Amino acid sequence: AELDTLDILVLGVILLGTFAYLTKGTLWAKQKDPYANAAYLNGNAAKAGKTRNFVEKMEESGKNCIIFYGSQTGTAEDYASRLAKEGKSRFGLETMVADLEEYDFDAMDTLPSDKIAFFVMATYGEGEPTDNAVEFYEFINGDDVAFSQGGEDAPLDNFHYVAFGLGNNTYEHYNSMVRDVDRLLTKYGAHRIGNAGEGDDGAGTMEEDFLAWKEPMWAALAAHMGLEEREAVYEPVFGITVREGLTPQSPEVYLGEPNKMHLEGAQKGPFNAHNPYIAPIAESYELFKVKDRNCIHLEIDISGSTLSYTTGDHIAIWPTNAGDEVDRFLRVTGLTDKREQVISVKALEPTAKVPFPTPTTYDAIVRYHLEIGAPVSRQFVSTLAAFAPTEEIKTEMTKLGSDKDYFHEKTGSQLFNIARLLEHVGNGETWDKIPFSAFIEGLTKLQPRYYSISSSSHVQPKKISVTAVVESSMVVGRQDPFRGVATNYLLALKQKQNGDPEPSPFGLTYELHGPRNKYDGIHVPVHVRHSNFKLPSDPAKPIIMIGPGTGVAPFRGFIQERAQQAREGINVGRTILFFGCRKSTEDFMYESEFEEYKKALGDKFELVTAFSRESSKKAFFYVCGDAANMAREVNTVLAQIIAEGRGVSESKAEEIVKNMRAANQYQEDVW
Ligand code: FAD
Repeated sequence: AELDTLDILVLGVILLGTFAYLTKGTLWAKQKDPYANAAYLNGNAAKAGKTRNFVEKMEESGKNCIIFYGSQTGTAEDYASRLAKEGKSRFGLETMVADLEEYDFDAMDTLPSDKIAFFVMATYGEGEPTDNAVEFYEFINGDDVAFSQGGEDAPLDNFHYVAFGLGNNTYEHYNSMVRDVDRLLTKYGAHRIGNAGEGDDGAGTMEEDFLAWKEPMWAALAAHMGLEEREAVYEPVFGITVREGLTPQSPEVYLGEPNKMHLEGAQKGPFNAHNPYIAPIAESYELFKVKDRNCIHLEIDISGSTLSYTTGDHIAIWPTNAGDEVDRFLRVTGLTDKREQVISVKALEPTAKVPFPTPTTYDAIVRYHLEIGAPVSRQFVSTLAAFAPTEEIKTEMTKLGSDKDYFHEKTGSQLFNIARLLEHVGNGETWDKIPFSAFIEGLTKLQPRYYSISSSSHVQPKKISVTAVVESSMVVGRQDPFRGVATNYLLALKQKQNGDPEPSPFGLTYELHGPRNKYDGIHVPVHVRHSNFKLPSDPAKPIIMIGPGTGVAPFRGFIQERAQQAREGINVGRTILFFGCRKSTEDFMYESEFEEYKKALGDKFELVTAFSRESSKKAFFYVCGDAANMAREVNTVLAQIIAEGRGVSESKAEEIVKNMRAANQYQEDVW
């Protein structure tokens, strides 16, 4: 557990910097299929020649409430959709959800005072905006912000807004994005309705923070806009049409292909968060020497693409869901027999977007596009209660949805995903009354996972190394362990590539060959995200790296680079790595490689290790010198370290030091 905390800290450091990587796919072809959703054909709204003025857009589409999101991993986007839906169903607001990067903000001052804008803003890394919020943030935080109607004292006096932030208190700049945006909007005279909410992922309370914030916010907004609450009735956002004339073999049917280019079999850059490169895996192997835990090393070949990277960048892996979980989802929702049926999904109102390309199949949607493995939101449980198979189950779902403590008591330790929860509450009944639209609305879209690139671009510019520890943990009262989506997918790829004799039975259920066998021969969809986590430009500068566990990933790249520079005769500065893991014989990854780097770098390279589960070798302490201050302080500090390290009280730790003295394990020669 100590390692986990450290891991998080180190990943926090890795997250440094802004990542302005905003290029978008522009090569999508024109829309042909009348049912197909335009976003996957034409790129974003702006590219399709639509307005970037959101006030105009609201007028055009008859909206009085716009909900902007700044989202990196999909949660903020999901909250924005939920607020839009709730605003409409409970208060009759005409809502629209909007991606911050699709609009300009100089016309903010023209938003009429009877309309409202929401900002649902995630903070990324070290207090940075998410990729899609960079432009907005630069605008509003700029030195000379110019609004369209010019510069009075309070140019945004008519502008009313609501704000919620998503952050993590283990980072220094906790929720700085929502705080900044709130401060800046207020500075320009805008008026906030309700409190600016803050959700904390670090404490694991994001969902509850959100739920607790939104009720008083709705009350304040209703009072401000004179809205009347009504009985909320579920209205689907998306319509599903069965495409009788099409089969999964029809060439226009998406079976998991992320966009039209991929459907047509062409791979064209730019490769980015909207368009992955299906990369061959050149090599893959296990880094741990124990059976029950896995850490995978991959070499991803980008030579066939326009992708490039520099040491310290991140690679995004686009996973697919495990077949076991796909089957469970389809079974519990009564869709097993329809899994290969071809359907089109259309937004029933013009500002909503279908999050995947269609026509497609239920199987492809669940396998490639929905985050079906994630924790279940309590609000979603409330929504689904209306569609329970029996009255009894409905009562239970309503209770789970409305009673926070009950929900956590029943589901907290189980790591349920949506299908497991429905299975559990449903007691063998099938949930076939749930409109499929509810799942598209209520689940996030399947997100790529980021990995710190663990190779040096100087050494291997066309091959990207990944070091990924496989997420798997036992759950009390459950037969099978909890398994992370992407890392078990990578494990399955590694096992297939190496023809491992005992592949994970769970891993075997992944559809590794991809849609229409496009990933066969061991491929994985990826894109690269540039980061500011960089070596000093002068190699002679000393560096100190702290990277326990997989936190070592980018530092393997750094050291690989410096070792190569040393071999080339470049003067390289001291290179010190602090690395920790459980046992030197189990999870000391890259141990022999570090020895090679040591040969190249000599005394310049120093590896300091700590093994948290090798406690058998008890060191002896010797203290000599000043008795009055120094020796006493050493005694006190040692006790503090023991207290912290072992999670015991300070008095207990002092007793441990006392016992060490008694056993001659702590000796003093002081005066
Ligand atoms: P997921 O399925 O996403 O699950 C992840 C966690 O979410 C679980 O462990 C659990 O705590 C929680 N969770 C998921 N589902 C549920 C549920 N139903 N109920 C309750 N809890 C749930 N990782 C590395 O190994 N190496 C790296 O070099 C690395 N670098 C990174 C760099 C960056 C910039 C970032 C942002 C992350 C990095 N990570 C790295 C982490 C990595 O992106 C993934 O988060 C990690 O591999 C887990 O992915 P997964 O899909 O296997 O697990």
